[in-house]
Amino acid sequence: MSKNYVVGFPRIGEQRELKKVLELFWAKQCSFTEVEKVASSLKVRHWNYQKEAGIEYISSNDFSLYDNMLDTAVMLGAIPKRFETLNDEELYFSMARGNKDAVAMEMTKWFNTNYHYIVPELSLSDNYQLNAAKILSEYKEAKALGIKTKINLIGPITFLGLSKRVDRGESYELFFKILPIYEALLAKIAKLDEKITVQIDEPIFVQDVEPKVLSLIKPCYDTLAKVSDNIKIVVTSYFEHSNEATKVLVHTPIWAIGLDFLYGEKNFESLELIEKSGKKLVAGVVDGRNIWKNDLKQTAGFLEKIASKIDKEHIIISSSCSLLHSPFTLRYEEKMDEEIQNWLSYAVEKLSEISLLSKLFFDEFDSLRDEDKKAYEENLSANFERKNSKRIHNPKVQTRVQNISKFQRDGVYEERIKIQKEILAYEDLATTTIGSFPQTPEVRKARAAYKKSEISKDVYDQEMKAYIDDCVRFQEECGIEILVHGEPERNDMVEYFGEQLDGYGFSQNGWVQSYGSRCVKPPFIYGDISRPKAMTVDWISYAQSKTQKIMKGMLTGPVTILNWSFVRDDKSREEVTKQIAIALSDEIDDLQNAGIKIIQVDEAAFKEGYPLRVENIALYEKWAVENFRLSVSTARKETQIHTHMCYSEFNDIIKTIEAMDADVISIETARSGNELLKIFKEVGYKQEVGPGIYDIHSPRIPSVEEMVEQIRHLLEVLPKEQLWINPDCGLKTRKWDEVKPSLENMVKAVEIVRGDL
Ligand code: GLN
Ligand code: ZN
Repeated sequence: MSKNYVVGFPRIGEQRELKKVLELFWAKQCSFTEVEKVASSLKVRHWNYQKEAGIEYISSNDFSLYDNMLDTAVMLGAIPKRFETLNDEELYFSMARGNKDAVAMEMTKWFNTNYHYIVPELSLSDNYQLNAAKILSEYKEAKALGIKTKINLIGPITFLGLSKRVDRGESYELFFKILPIYEALLAKIAKLDEKITVQIDEPIFVQDVEPKVLSLIKPCYDTLAKVSDNIKIVVTSYFEHSNEATKVLVHTPIWAIGLDFLYGEKNFESLELIEKSGKKLVAGVVDGRNIWKNDLKQTAGFLEKIASKIDKEHIIISSSCSLLHSPFTLRYEEKMDEEIQNWLSYAVEKLSEISLLSKLFFDEFDSLRDEDKKAYEENLSANFERKNSKRIHNPKVQTRVQNISKFQRDGVYEERIKIQKEILAYEDLATTTIGSFPQTPEVRKARAAYKKSEISKDVYDQEMKAYIDDCVRFQEECGIEILVHGEPERNDMVEYFGEQLDGYGFSQNGWVQSYGSRCVKPPFIYGDISRPKAMTVDWISYAQSKTQKIMKGMLTGPVTILNWSFVRDDKSREEVTKQIAIALSDEIDDLQNAGIKIIQVDEAAFKEGYPLRVENIALYEKWAVENFRLSVSTARKETQIHTHMCYSEFNDIIKTIEAMDADVISIETARSGNELLKIFKEVGYKQEVGPGIYDIHSPRIPSVEEMVEQIRHLLEVLPKEQLWINPDCGLKTRKWDEVKPSLENMVKAVEIVRGDL
């Protein structure tokens, strides 16, 4: 037995087959039978990949047509009232996406990943009822192919922790209502076969778990483990350590504990306890959420360290988390540089790594098959080549980072803003936008054609300039005060910069599921980052040349660039971020030297990167603030620095926001009136604030009256001198005929309010 394990496999399909068929189905261009056909062929393929790689513990029920939390809600019969009357076929996707009569269930981030799950809605009056159909049939599907799977479930404690109560009260009150459903489920599973492994995911254990929640672990797993002798339960957590929970789990009759040793190094502290309990350890040592080839030699060494605490026979070698968070396979990367491609490993390739690691760990090297020896040699040399490649080391950049002497800009805020207000001379309640304007089909087409070299640079430039001309003209006519160029040249706010920085790589097919049928393709940082030439100066200067008004320059901040990229694992995040911050600081200097007076540095993903454990927050905040300040350190006192964040909740982080020391911050408060602005007043926040006054996520055009109302509400909290007026995010996903009247109304609203003041 090879004793290896995969927590879960991605399901969207290596060519995004599931995405494509779902979107056809939603557009009523294919039948549900068609969806099922694709789904079942994907499952077969994915099981076979794992089997062929020599994986022993292969999952079923890791597949989903939309999301596993949603599947779990359906399994429990936790169907919100507004969907109750729908038939099976309509029900599932209506819950996920809404329908004409009912809004969709909420969606939110799965821990600190970029995957989003559907938030179950629970209430005390619910009557839960087991629906095990999907789980049982997936097991049988695999078995029919001769593959005996472990069954993946989301655990009751995590399920409740991530759900919301729609009546008053908290979700954990429902624990004793849902536990019997899980028992009934396990009883059914026990009848499927002799000896079935059930993996119960409890990632909630990696957060700072309250005693109240910890106290549920024992009753929960005592009960579930006693359902049947046929079932071996593995309780799995990932993304951080879960030492508090492990202390309890070792006293329950479960069979194994699955831990992430890459993102939860502290799990190491639990090894003795686990050994004493005689339980198996599923050791997550192959990174499930990054794209780098495992360093097998190093990992084998680490496994030996684990084996110094735990009997080798008790160890099972695994991915650190579900491979859902990494792209599918390198097979379709046709354009990637060969040298770089040889450093990477996506989900399918990770299977072979896990399999090989288990052979290296459990067998004598000499007894391995020649092809395994060869694969190991290849892995050694790929890692050696990567370490020593000229392409990842740039001594100039490294020296510059070591010698940084200026970590922040000159002048305190009070001094800067006085100078800025004199030069920029904007009125109170100055109007602006967040940067992007509608991305029309023409703009997208031009960008794509240019990328494929179907049109020349000249033609492309002309198209972009024509867009900028229109954009500037509209803003002038509309009466907006601080203009933007509209960002027509940008596909994505991170990729655009990545493409212009050395040290950044891009994949053709590195898609990772973000939610439902949506995937993202994050760029990756493989080497030292440098900026061969200015990235935005030409476009912004062109836009500035078209108007007498002030044109705002637009950059993406270092924290957001990091949080939305796959980051190299051979250098500390601290150092990588500094390299990016330095490149941005050079860009800022170039912009101001070109006459640009206001520069916005977007930090859309600032909050997303927050650590899962409170103990790590201070360090994260220090890192984020330092690097933002370093990025803008070149800005002269008179250059006004804006930032934008796609959030509205600042209560916990207001001091950190203040410490970033941007002159102006625009935020996403349109849906919360002035409620969430109060914190800025409470802490005596000095800098200027642009609370979004209308919601750009909806096609609705807000009226003048409601925006007047909105501005007046804002003025109840902050004085006019401190307020800017803007939409709550970039406009790129909207249409021109929504944007134009909305912004016209916004400007009129400001005039009315100014008239009153
Ligand atoms: N400047 C960017 C835009 O307007 C900001 C987007 C964002 O923060 N998500 O598109
Ligand atoms: Zn935003």
